[in-house]
Amino acid sequence: PLFTQISHHAETQSKQKSAIIDVKAGTSHSYRHLVSDIVGLRTQLLKNAGTSIEDLKEARVAFLCPNGYDYVVSQCSVWSAGGIAVPLCITHPPSELLYVLNDSQSTIMIAHSDFQEKVNNIAREAGIKKVITVCDKDQKYSQYDGTNYKPPSLIPMDDSRRAMIIYTSGTTGKPKGVVTTHANIIAQIKSLVDAWRWNNKDKILHVLPLHHLHGIINALTCGLYAGATIEMIPKFDAAAVWNRWMKPDNDLSLFMAFRLMVSGSSALPTPTRNSWKEISDGVVLLERYGMTEMGMALSHEYDVEKRYEGCVGVPLPNVQVRLISEDGKDVTSLVEQPGELHVKGPNVFKEYWNRPEATKKEFTEDGWFKTGDIAMITAKEKVFKILGRQSSGSYKLSALEIEKELLSHSDIQEISIVGVEDPEWGQKVGAIVVLKNQESKLDLKQLREFAKDKLAHYKLPTLLKVINEMPKNVMGKVNKKELVKLFDD
Ligand code: ATP
Ligand code: MG
Repeated sequence: PLFTQISHHAETQSKQKSAIIDVKAGTSHSYRHLVSDIVGLRTQLLKNAGTSIEDLKEARVAFLCPNGYDYVVSQCSVWSAGGIAVPLCITHPPSELLYVLNDSQSTIMIAHSDFQEKVNNIAREAGIKKVITVCDKDQKYSQYDGTNYKPPSLIPMDDSRRAMIIYTSGTTGKPKGVVTTHANIIAQIKSLVDAWRWNNKDKILHVLPLHHLHGIINALTCGLYAGATIEMIPKFDAAAVWNRWMKPDNDLSLFMAFRLMVSGSSALPTPTRNSWKEISDGVVLLERYGMTEMGMALSHEYDVEKRYEGCVGVPLPNVQVRLISEDGKDVTSLVEQPGELHVKGPNVFKEYWNRPEATKKEFTEDGWFKTGDIAMITAKEKVFKILGRQSSGSYKLSALEIEKELLSHSDIQEISIVGVEDPEWGQKVGAIVVLKNQESKLDLKQLREFAKDKLAHYKLPTLLKVINEMPKNVMGKVNKKELVKLFDD
């Protein structure tokens, strides 16, 4: 289905316009070029599947490509061949890659030539039948020369077919393979194209990891669906991004004039929101909330005035949400009543790969997906606010709220609040802090004194640990289950 849309752009857009600009390779590719190359790799994939059928029939094809043109061709060719795309993380060590290959039972791999050696070793161990090496620089996917465009044949397939397995970030446990169908993916894309006003004049600078939902759906496939230009740089590098923005012949509209800048995946701290506004001459970040399992569910409205601080806005089109309190009541129509966020809609995933029990556990009997995140509706603006994960603390305390208040302390660079098991109190509030300045002498007494007018007494930390660097996973998320072990002594 996405391929149909891309083929449509190929037929309607000018040949000069780029679909993908690959900054590292120094190449630029029109929609016609992209479609021709997708068909080229599709032919190779089908040939290598070891059968005579014209369809991969949901075979898992794992691929490891840096952010660039080859990634896009790989991803789209798996989809158009009827396989299930399993994007791998380029920075993962071999053990993590093996976990994903084994768990997804992938049989074919596509590897960029940069990773050939690494891949050959793990592919053998994971029992991969065929590795296809790609690299747009050394080898051509198709015979397309800028003039000989042939509209592609489409392999007929049902929307309900499985299309992708993305692994969750592994913040709360082992990463789970989240299976989405073609229909799920299109639903996720359409909601955002609509809400964030994606269009074919957009040009996005893509710097995000491409084994994670935001990079794949919110940035890449939304852009392709809208017929926009996607300029890809291998990874976020502050200097490279800054220089790109400041280039004199800049065709990306400047930093201050960017149409839209988005933040998500974990809460946006107020100091970051404020300093962003300052350095960008007034850009108010649009915050969104989502999960691998359902794509985006809530988003600030497009209207700048409605991008309320500390909140994540309203449900996206076609996404239904409700809040269920600890005692099982539907509190969606009330304000300031915390509840677990439940979601329903065409965007919600099909299943966890090979985990029928886990899948069953995460859905209610009447088909709502239980996110495990606690949220409430604010009294004034009537928008959603995320209070944190159910698993990381009790209902009554929001780690995010405590973090937000304590972050305003001038000595604190970063802070994580965790619930520490305590025989007497059940849980105690523990603060783990990275200081701005090593010389600062922040102690628990001072911290409590500072916060006592901002937070209820029972929310004040009773434990403090100062560390040099906050441990984070590749998605920049803090693993609180690991972090809390700092209080083991
Ligand atoms: P795992 O499921 O493996 O433990 P994970 O839940 O971190 O990892 P993701 O699917 O990448 O994996 O992340 C989804 C989670 O990220 C949500 O459940 C929510 O807790 C958090 N999140 C996303 N956006 C926001 C936001 N705007 N504010 C606060 N939290 C957010
Ligand atoms: Mg999760």
